[in-house]
Amino acid sequence: MSYTLGGGLGILAREFGYAADHVRSLDLVTADGELRHVTPESDLYWALLGGGHSLGVVTELEIGLVPVRTLYGGSLAFDGGQVDPAAVLGAYAEWTWTLPDALTSSFAAVPYPDIPAMPPQLRGRYVISVRVACTGDDGERLVEPLRRIGPVSADSLREMPYAESHTIHSDPDFPHAYYGDSAVLSELDTEKVAQLLARTGPDAGAMVVVQINHLGGALAAPAANAVPYRDGKFLVRLLTMADRERAREILDPAFALLATKTLGRSLNFAFGAGDRTEGLYDDETRKRLAGVKGRYDPANLFRRLTS
Ligand SMILES: Cc1cc2nc3c(=O)[nH]c(=O)nc-3n(C[C@H](O)[C@H](O)[C@H](O)COP(=O)(O)OP(=O)(O)OC[C@H]3O[C@@H](n4cnc5c(N)ncnc54)[C@H](O)[C@@H]3O)c2cc1C
Repeated sequence: MSYTLGGGLGILAREFGYAADHVRSLDLVTADGELRHVTPESDLYWALLGGGHSLGVVTELEIGLVPVRTLYGGSLAFDGGQVDPAAVLGAYAEWTWTLPDALTSSFAAVPYPDIPAMPPQLRGRYVISVRVACTGDDGERLVEPLRRIGPVSADSLREMPYAESHTIHSDPDFPHAYYGDSAVLSELDTEKVAQLLARTGPDAGAMVVVQINHLGGALAAPAANAVPYRDGKFLVRLLTMADRERAREILDPAFALLATKTLGRSLNFAFGAGDRTEGLYDDETRKRLAGVKGRYDPANLFRRLTS
């Protein structure tokens, strides 16, 4: 539910836009105890989709589906001990310029700790990967330049039924604690991101996961909702299992490197940031959200996000 209320960046996002863009109506209980059914004519509809974590309790969504039975996708991994992570990043960034909207991808750099709990193939390794999802028949050809970046350590790219698409990112299916934040960028300055990778790699002193999502395509299309920064070209996400204080010591200077190209932060990727709200919306969206919040929850019964 809150995935969609926060925008919802899916694996085929460049082709189909945000999950929020497909919502037809919502039911919610507002601060006055009213159960309301809201549709695109309502200011609440606009505000809930993108700003929806603080306006009431959403009990139902009606959402349009898109017909995707199969896709081409998976992950191509490189050993960060053998290839230069910054070189993979540079090649990845250049590759994204050539892509149709049917292909959505992301870059990841994960320094797995050298501890017995890790599977042997990951233990102590710095894994750099590109994750891909593509509809249509062109996927195999489109990923060809990635295979030339360097020796590939793992390759799961294949045609697959949509039902297997969760294997592309292999996100953990169990809860665990971490801090994280994000920056939506107007452009990817690969030199600055290379500096960021140098700070967050195996020598960072804490495990930091870097993920960079390629935006654009349908994500840039205007929509009648409060999901901001449609002109963002990339989203940089950093996660760490370090404690809160250490997390800020690592994340703040890393994000500072990207400051000149940063449009703002992404609500869905602010993990453990407490009530820190700056940068979640551009000024115009924030003011309009604050107006809706003032009308429907003037006493701020739900968590304050928009003022
Ligand atoms: C492993 C992992 C992978 C992820 N991948 C993606 C991704 O690919 N794309 C993406 O966009 N996001 C992704 N996310 C982020 C995810 O969408 C957000 O963290 C989302 O807010 C999680 O919702 P939750 O209900 O589980 O969290 P919660 O912490 O329970 O809720 C988040 C916020 O939503 C509010 N909320 C919860 N339920 C309701 C409701 N019914 N009505 C109104 N407000 C409500 C809560 O009060 C809270 O403020 C990922 C998160 C994780 C942990």
